[in-house]
Amino acid sequence: MSAQSAAIGHLRAGFSVIPLRPRDKRPLIPWADFQRRRATETEARAWWGADPEAGIAFVCGRVSSLVVLDEDPRNGGDQSLAAFPFPAGPTVRTGSGGRHFYFAHSGEPIPKIPSLLPGVDVQGEGSYVVAPPSIHPNGTAYAWDAGRELGALPLPAMPFWLRRLIRDHQRGQAPDRRHGPGLGGPVAVAAILGQLRGVRRAAGGWTACCPAHEDESPSLSIGVGTAGRVLLHCFGGCTYHEIRGALDPAVTE
Ligand SMILES: [Zn+2]
Repeated sequence: MSAQSAAIGHLRAGFSVIPLRPRDKRPLIPWADFQRRRATETEARAWWGADPEAGIAFVCGRVSSLVVLDEDPRNGGDQSLAAFPFPAGPTVRTGSGGRHFYFAHSGEPIPKIPSLLPGVDVQGEGSYVVAPPSIHPNGTAYAWDAGRELGALPLPAMPFWLRRLIRDHQRGQAPDRRHGPGLGGPVAVAAILGQLRGVRRAAGGWTACCPAHEDESPSLSIGVGTAGRVLLHCFGGCTYHEIRGALDPAVTE
């Protein structure tokens, strides 16, 4: 399928697409406008008519109702995501050997988040992803995984763990009073880990048994947010204050 017909198909399906320079990740046109509106078919025919070798990118965020998780194995992204369950949805093998996982937008603003986990970025408002059949600067084509083409499968909702990671990240940026101020510094992390059972290294931090409830499978996630704040989250439902209350106060004050 030519880039032009692919692009027009995506426009008709409700996605905002822009042309890229051939074998280049940079846009062929000023693209800010297409973060707010989809191109017309006339515009698309003009872009790819003038340059049939131009690549295609999806503008992420609300304009396309699209969020993409961008995994780069060169920075450990495959390991970061190995333990998480993924719903069946469209996925792309990128020209550099990474993966793009496509999800439906939840309606709440999702920003671009570099390094949500090591080697894993979130592409949201104000960002775009290179899409098939674009050619990477290294000469390799972006390709849909077999049976996982856009259109063959509906866009799945973002899974619970991904929404949680994004929310925790956003709270790390803008501390939320309901979840406490966070605890400071690497010393506090080591001291907290020293009080917990079943501590294991995990993507983005550690897991351990939650001290605030009878926990046999590690359901506490421990991370370090901006400014060295220790982030505590119990997947069993304990609140920040309950977890903190179960720890030695000498460490948490
Ligand atoms: Zn708990």
